[in-house]
Amino acid sequence: MPLVSMRQLLDEAAKGGYGVGAFNVNDMEQIQAIMAAAKETKSPVIVQASRGARAFAEDLYLFKLIQAAAELNPDIPIAMHQDHGNSFETCKSAIELGYTSVMMDGSLKADGKTPATFEENVEVTRKVVDFAHERGVTVEGEIGVLGGVEDGHGAGGSGLEHLTDPDQAVEFAERTGVDALAIAIGTSHGAYKFTKKPDGSVLKMDILIAIHKRLPKTHLVMHGSSSVPKDLQDIINQYGGKLKETWGVPVEEIQLGIRNGVRKINVDTDNRLAITGAIRKVFAETPEKFDPRDYMKPAREAMQKVVAQRMTQFGQAGHAGDYKAISIADMAKGYKDGSLSTKPLVAAK
Ligand SMILES: [Zn+2]
Repeated sequence: MPLVSMRQLLDEAAKGGYGVGAFNVNDMEQIQAIMAAAKETKSPVIVQASRGARAFAEDLYLFKLIQAAAELNPDIPIAMHQDHGNSFETCKSAIELGYTSVMMDGSLKADGKTPATFEENVEVTRKVVDFAHERGVTVEGEIGVLGGVEDGHGAGGSGLEHLTDPDQAVEFAERTGVDALAIAIGTSHGAYKFTKKPDGSVLKMDILIAIHKRLPKTHLVMHGSSSVPKDLQDIINQYGGKLKETWGVPVEEIQLGIRNGVRKINVDTDNRLAITGAIRKVFAETPEKFDPRDYMKPAREAMQKVVAQRMTQFGQAGHAGDYKAISIADMAKGYKDGSLSTKPLVAAK
């Protein structure tokens, strides 16, 4: 299947009442792991690249690998998404490469660190929406600021400093016309999200539910949503790693989110943990080995296992064949003639 827009994937997910995992990629093995999991579970999928990934792999290498994934998997809808675009220029360059979706993270200034004002966020996001929709490309915006830092992007902190205000979320959705909205409910990027199993004092599912009540048709996005399972931490530490004890977002909280409008769930750390654990195991058990394939293959398999598990838990499994791709050109027409709405349905308080 040609690459599809993320908007189409999320609209379909809303119809089916499930969530779609968005998995980060930096290299061929990660792309192969995701596609193998999607094939195994018959799942539509969002593949995403951060600015760091685009710099690490080089744009053309990475994008051609995604095109190969689409060609090799004609039955699987794939959206290619720019994760945490820091500026209009970053989003524009992704769109010009052929990405079918971009995130304009205007919650931070272009340095990717300093929280921006609400007005700055609206202005830059609106500019990206105008450019992207003219070309049929999806836009995710962010309101509120997540905790932690990943790939050099993030304001740091615990994730509780800049929680999303539901009223602001409504105004933001109305003024920008974004297709999907990332919200800050206490999650953080990276492995060290929580120092104990998160309860309502740190993971603010009540805010998510309040936003969904006001914006019942808006596709919500959960960032920093790796579950950081103990078994993956244990493998790393068993084979010489030194991870400190940490907790991620429990899968059942994500599933509660999915019942309340969450359609895209970002997962990166769990895959990093799976890869590193598998490689450490080979190094520790068979130190005589030196062929990269001897450790990249089990690493790829370990990531496939985690991704397939998440696809099943998020409910996207089995939905790859539900629909045919709408071309990006037709998406552009839909935005122009208004058949693809960019005005959120707003419910009274
Ligand atoms: Zn994120």
